[in-house]
Amino acid sequence: MKAGTSCIFCRIVAGDIPAEVVARDPDVIAFLDLEPLADGHVLVVPRAHAAAIEQLDADAADHLFRLVRRLADPVRRAVGAVGSTIGINNGEASGQTVPHVHVHIVPRWPNDGAGSVHTIFPRRTSRTLAEVGAAIRQAVDA
Ligand SMILES: [Zn+2]
Repeated sequence: MKAGTSCIFCRIVAGDIPAEVVARDPDVIAFLDLEPLADGHVLVVPRAHAAAIEQLDADAADHLFRLVRRLADPVRRAVGAVGSTIGINNGEASGQTVPHVHVHIVPRWPNDGAGSVHTIFPRRTSRTLAEVGAAIRQAVDA
């Protein structure tokens, strides 16, 4: 998908849609979420369209996470937060609503009413760790 298409993040990258940009480099752009969960809720987005993390090339992934790393502390300090939750909804089943990879940085405060990543899962497993570990190792090597 190229800029000028219906992808809202490609349109922000292209400058067709305004956004409150907080950082940019040749490969990645970071802007405030239009529906923030907290003050300072930033989205870090690769300029090249990729629907999910599996479609990002290695260089794009490097640049994406370098900017996430660089922004974590300034975002926290800018809004007086004491931590942040950093996450990716990867794929529609996870709740990803814009099919263009984006990393959320959401500032956190003690007792802010939000939970940890663990609280979004009902903890539903059916296989042993050894069984799942073997299956994943085999898939990685495939
Ligand atoms: Zn896009």
